Amino acid sequence: MSNEQLVTPVFPLGELFESPYFNGDVYRQPLVPQNDLNCPTSNITFAPGCINNWHSHAGGQILLCTNGRGWYQEEGKAAQELNPGDVVQIPADIKHWHGAAKDSWFTHISISTNIQAGGTDWMEPVDLEEYNKLA
Ligand code: MN
Repeated sequence: MSNEQLVTPVFPLGELFESPYFNGDVYRQPLVPQNDLNCPTSNITFAPGCINNWHSHAGGQILLCTNGRGWYQEEGKAAQELNPGDVVQIPADIKHWHGAAKDSWFTHISISTNIQAGGTDWMEPVDLEEYNKLA
């Protein structure tokens, strides 16, 4: 396999996703719509430096990291670097954020779990002074 094949995204970039809860450009390609399977799944791509606000999911969330380098942080814990192949299991109602590293695009597949429990509770933006300290 060539290097080019290794970095070619498997799923489409999708459309620019307009949201007040992200601080930069983010693209979304729905892969599994909200249907009887009850497990909405999307390919999400963050431009370098783009992250989302603190938030929580009433039913939890799974992130499957596929491209680039990013970060995930739960409130009260150190931020954890994300690379392709990493799987993040986010429990219900845990306050967290995720997104790209300052200098890298980042793509993860987002799986919304247990959505019968409710939606996403969006909160304040991440302190960019803290984000900018991340290596
Ligand atoms: Mn989340």
